Amino acid sequence: MNLCLTSACLALAMAGCAPRVSTLGEASTRPPAKVTATRPLPRPPQAPQGRGPTLPASVVVELTRLTGATEIRWSRPGGRPGLAEQIGGRVFVNGAPAAAPARVDGPLVIDGRTYDGTLLLSTCADGGLTARIDVGLEAYVEGVVASETSIWSAAAAELEAQAIAARTYAVATLQQRAAGGTEAQLADGVMDQAFQGRHVPGSSARAREAADRLTRAVRATAGVVLLRGDRLEEARYHAACGGHTSAFRDVFRKEVRERDARGPTGTPCTPCARRAAQESMAGAPDATRPLGWIEELSPSTLARVGRAFGLPGAPRRIGPARTDAGGRWLDVALESNDGAVTRVPFEAFRKVVGYSVLRSGALVATVPNPSDPLLGGGWRAQGRGRGHGVGLCQEGSRDLSRAGWTSADILAHYYPGATLSRPLAGDASELAAATDR
Ligand SMILES: [Zn+2]
Repeated sequence: MNLCLTSACLALAMAGCAPRVSTLGEASTRPPAKVTATRPLPRPPQAPQGRGPTLPASVVVELTRLTGATEIRWSRPGGRPGLAEQIGGRVFVNGAPAAAPARVDGPLVIDGRTYDGTLLLSTCADGGLTARIDVGLEAYVEGVVASETSIWSAAAAELEAQAIAARTYAVATLQQRAAGGTEAQLADGVMDQAFQGRHVPGSSARAREAADRLTRAVRATAGVVLLRGDRLEEARYHAACGGHTSAFRDVFRKEVRERDARGPTGTPCTPCARRAAQESMAGAPDATRPLGWIEELSPSTLARVGRAFGLPGAPRRIGPARTDAGGRWLDVALESNDGAVTRVPFEAFRKVVGYSVLRSGALVATVPNPSDPLLGGGWRAQGRGRGHGVGLCQEGSRDLSRAGWTSADILAHYYPGATLSRPLAGDASELAAATDR
């Protein structure tokens, strides 16, 4: 058994999984969006109009890094520092007891991050403090876009598309949690959406330009969400699909089963497919924007997989039980030593192994092959892309925006059948593009 993927073997494996035929060949030939340098500034945020839902004015976001802390310190820009402590099951703010949740008005700087809105401090059920920020929806969206996107090099359409997806995800998630009886709040990590507070630019002209571009993009889309029929879209997004996105119904089966959730179908992604082909030609991942990756699971990790899914030991064989149109593994077949085969969703398998290890289900080769036994050794997987593969592909969106696609074009492509709650009046992409240079 050879657990080592040599460069020749890698090249062969990559070439054997050449990207599928794209239907987006026109992407690079489309004329770029017209840029008008003398347009006025975007209008300030407006309430949504038309058939869109009523959006919350603010959202509550848990600062998960601080959960369980016995004390939390902050400073105000140019002002006095503050301190919250948990003492005897109560919250003390600056030495005085406070009724929970204690409220501290922002803006505040906590651990180097700047938060607008109001800090809400409570005690955890198992000790320590819980810190949440009650922040305006649009300020939250701007913070998410800053955290989820490389804003230094992002074109306006990419920022706008991300803003609309993030806003839709936030509002829909809060609605679902409220309906399900859980607290209607978001977490600040990637299991919801990355949120590191307000983007504070450096002093350079380029930093200020990037921050202006971010603000313009969010304002140009203010209040706009994606709809699927009369519901909010399941606006999932991910870092890179690898060449083809996946259908919501295939990856988020629990949501479909439990609340009849409906989301986007899968679609080819020309930018990722093109980059996958380039990496195949080169025989190695791109140095600056790598799409391909290789990881090996150790015998101890495989033993953990076995325990997690009720196998008598580590799996003897690992292979795909079901794949989708793009080749992404949807279910994994784990064969145990007694010959029994346990079939589990790939995302559950990925969760046990580690999201940062198996970066996506778009696997193009494994060693050993699915038909060969592991014989007590490790399992090596070669894949492409990062994330669950559903909805907006951020890497694809970046390249399509550079090719002249508008945010509406990008969203229509990655969320087929979804609509915007209202048109992006004033050609938001064009407007924001005026600041791109
Ligand atoms: Zn993609």
